[in-house]
Amino acid sequence: MASSEEINELLPQTQCKLCGYQNCMSYAQGIIDDDAPLDLCPPGGESTRIRLAAIMGTALCSDRVLLPEPKSFFALIEESDCIGCAKCLAECPTDAIIGAKSRVHTIVEKWCTGCGLCAPVCPVDCIEIKVKSATSSSSLSSRAARQRYERHLQRLEKKHESTYEQTYATFDKSSKEEMRTIIKAAIARKTAKEDSACKAVT
Ligand code: SF4
Ligand code: SF4
Ligand code: SF4
Repeated sequence: MASSEEINELLPQTQCKLCGYQNCMSYAQGIIDDDAPLDLCPPGGESTRIRLAAIMGTALCSDRVLLPEPKSFFALIEESDCIGCAKCLAECPTDAIIGAKSRVHTIVEKWCTGCGLCAPVCPVDCIEIKVKSATSSSSLSSRAARQRYERHLQRLEKKHESTYEQTYATFDKSSKEEMRTIIKAAIARKTAKEDSACKAVT
C-alpha cells in the first residue's frame, strides 16, 4: 500500500486546489482515506492518473475518459493598475509575488506555477492567468514548487504574515539583488505607463 508521501511525490505540486482538496498532500491523503478518484488533478492530466493507478495497484478501465493534456500557465500583473493592497501575496503557494505594501507588485515568473490562486483575490482585477507558449521559460519543477510551498507553510505556522518584507529577509545576497532588479523594472514600467497616460491627457 502506497503512503500519502509516495502519492504526493507523483502530484504536480501547484497546490491549485482544483482537485477539491486544500493542497496536493491533502489529495494524496484523500486517495488513501476517502478512496478519492484518481482523475481529480487537471494539472497532472492523464499521465498523473496513470502513475497514481500504478502506485495504488488499480486497474484503469479500457473505456475510461482520458484527461486532457495539461497546459502550463503563468500569472501576469498589469502593474499600472496595481494598487499595492498586497492581498495576492498570502495566496501564492510559492511566494512568487513580490512588492511592498502600497507599492506596485510583480511576479517572479520562474517561481510561478500558474496555479491561478492569486487572480480571484485582486480587488482591481489586474492579475491575468495566461497559457505558456512553447518558447516560454521552463516551468518550476514540482520538487522546487513543493520546497517553496513548504517554506511558505513554515512561515505561516510561525504566525508570520506572508509579507514581502519578511520573505525578502530570508533571501541570500544575490537573490536580494535579483529581487531589487525585478521590482525596479516593475516600478519603471508602471511609471512609464502613467507618464504616457498623462501625456495623452495633456
Ligand atoms: S496540483 Fe493537482 S493534486 Fe495538487 S492541488 Fe492542484 S489539483 Fe490538487
Ligand atoms: S503568482 Fe499566482 S499563479 Fe503564480 S504561483 Fe503565485 S498564486 Fe499561483
Ligand atoms: S491583489 Fe492586485 S492590486 Fe493588490 S497587490 Fe496584488 S496585484 Fe496589486
